[in-house]
Amino acid sequence: MPSEPIAYPARVREVAARRVVDFAAELNDAQRAAATHADGPLLIVAGAGTGKTRTLVYRVAHLIERGIRPERILLLTFTRRAAQEMLARSEKLVGSESRAVHGGTFHGTAHRLLRRFGAEAGLPGDFTILDQGDAADLMALSRTACGLGDKTKRFPKKETLHHVYSRHVNTEFPVGAILREEYPRFIEHEEDMARVFADYTARKQGRNLVDYDDLLLYWAMLLETEAARAIGDRIGALYDHILVDEYQDTNVLQARILKGMCRVHRNITVVGDDAQSIYAFRGATIRNILDFPREFPGASVVTLEQNYRSTQPILDASNMLISRAEERFTKELFTRRVGGEKPWLVTAQDEPQQTRFVVDRILELHEEGTPLREMAVLFRAGYMSADLEVELTARNIPFEKWGGLKFLEAAHVKDVLAFLRVLENPRDEVSWYRLLQLMPGIGETTARRAIEAIAAEDWDPDAFARFTPPPRAREAHANLVQVLAALRRSDLEGNGSVARDIARVRTLYDDILRARYDREEPRLADLERLQAIADGHGTRADFLTAISLDPPASSTDLGFGSESEDDTLILSTAHSAKGKEWDAVFLIWAVDGWFPMSRSLGDDEQIDEERRLMYVALTRARDHLAVSFPFNVYETRRGANYSLSQMSRFLDRGVVRTFQQVVLERTEAPSPEEPPTGATPVVDLRALLRNRFQG
Ligand code: ATP
Ligand code: MG
Repeated sequence: MPSEPIAYPARVREVAARRVVDFAAELNDAQRAAATHADGPLLIVAGAGTGKTRTLVYRVAHLIERGIRPERILLLTFTRRAAQEMLARSEKLVGSESRAVHGGTFHGTAHRLLRRFGAEAGLPGDFTILDQGDAADLMALSRTACGLGDKTKRFPKKETLHHVYSRHVNTEFPVGAILREEYPRFIEHEEDMARVFADYTARKQGRNLVDYDDLLLYWAMLLETEAARAIGDRIGALYDHILVDEYQDTNVLQARILKGMCRVHRNITVVGDDAQSIYAFRGATIRNILDFPREFPGASVVTLEQNYRSTQPILDASNMLISRAEERFTKELFTRRVGGEKPWLVTAQDEPQQTRFVVDRILELHEEGTPLREMAVLFRAGYMSADLEVELTARNIPFEKWGGLKFLEAAHVKDVLAFLRVLENPRDEVSWYRLLQLMPGIGETTARRAIEAIAAEDWDPDAFARFTPPPRAREAHANLVQVLAALRRSDLEGNGSVARDIARVRTLYDDILRARYDREEPRLADLERLQAIADGHGTRADFLTAISLDPPASSTDLGFGSESEDDTLILSTAHSAKGKEWDAVFLIWAVDGWFPMSRSLGDDEQIDEERRLMYVALTRARDHLAVSFPFNVYETRRGANYSLSQMSRFLDRGVVRTFQQVVLERTEAPSPEEPPTGATPVVDLRALLRNRFQG
């Protein structure tokens, strides 16, 4: 007899419940006043770790509790990750409703709005986004088109051109002024540069490309142009409240956008810390904070002084460091947290010793109970962690890296994406150029001729197939035509997927990669990853937008594992560590010329920015902080010549006094292998052989 089936109950899906938030218990008076501020402009200006971000999270919760519809709240942050974290926290406070809040970066939001409203203002809705590298490549094409590509002349490089252009757009400084300040030797080229910029602008538009700066610029124009008034009003009417974190790192254009967005309601809350402004090099200005009360008359200003993050000894060191800065708005920080040891100032012999110390200490803290994810190693620039990465890998310590060269910036990943891009937008000249030049037998001249031929047929998708290549490029041309045709066929049949597209591209590209690089395995593995990532996205357009707009800082950002579950050590540039906190923080390479970077040494303003950056790094630590300084450094990164280094100028005598000095004992050199008894070798042949292969 068949037995009764067991009825297996479905689990009730947990919906984060709405709870009444006890603002008084969870915030101090000043924080509560800010979080529950009624309508109108509000500026919170306060030092590191004083709960600015926390206050914004509670303010979102408060607004929802007050009955503001969540989808009418816009939360602008510096990274997509930051917005997600903040919304996850406010969800814990007021439940899943807060998921409807619009959170993201300025660029991400601009993109969303332009896709929706751009067409009405003459911007085709299917534009492709150029990332920074692509924008510089397009600038190179413009330079050549203007007859300035001759490498023998001292005309600015494509990156410099793009930098000056972007700075001009973001700061509104005239090009001449930027040149005088940053590149006096190029002043004579100002007019020619203007021609290149004009060509660049026309080229972008003709090819339906939009760069990062355009995103902000178009958004601002939609809000400000009288003729677009009706659209601007509709965009402004989308939100009742706008909140901005890290306001010190916004630029003039972003301030204009906020003003335009708040024309009707003036419900804007911004939080920032002038002592942590670290993006002036990209056009950010603390004037936005200082001028806020003037731009938004009647603004309330809240300041916070109590730090909840760090121990007092860590704050003493941070306060001392920042007290050397010229001008400051925010005050000295204090904490009620008692105890804690002085931060360590570690003098290491050289890089290997610094690495060994960091890894040993991390393992020690880990054994004492600190999870890896509560520790971070920070550095001034991405390449400074190379040795550490090797050691961590060798010792099987999982880590994740933020900042520095990102996965999607790797040449081979960009190569594969170029195929997808020309399919998506046949006018994407930069991607055509890139992919044509990958093909064996196709050089710069042939690539340019091919693109001219395609352009002459108004970028018809089949124009490339009709192009007649020179004999040595025939095979490459035929292969490329075949792959592109196959991809387009699957588009038409509607059975394609981005992952499958990539697989098809790889039937051609993998061999090119093998021929180009000596070490192909890690690169092929990257492509596997790219394929897996693509699998998680809908259409090709969605995928390309997602990755070019907010380039993921790490593979975790792309949806592999999650930060909270995996116990992974964080390696991060100081810039990318902004806003975060860890139980233990290691700052490596506190060497003059490395931090501050040598290129900033001649310029007082840049030195100040570097000091603020170090302040950001130190104030990330809750309980343990160690700053390390190897006194022997390589002269060049490749060479084997050591030279004596100076400790970072920011660690002057006063600052050093706030630290506990730590000297690492020299590890004994491993004892040479025992010679066989009775025979003392005159020469160690094996050592000779070993040495032969060591740089
Ligand atoms: P940063 O300038 O580095 O961005 P911040 O001002 O945004 O710092 P938060 O990150 O919001 O500071 O807060 C720092 C830490 O202090 C967090 O762990 C936060 O939860 C905690 N904190 C802030 N205010 C309080 C409070 N009133 N009670 C308890 N913890 C608090
Ligand atoms: Mg913060």
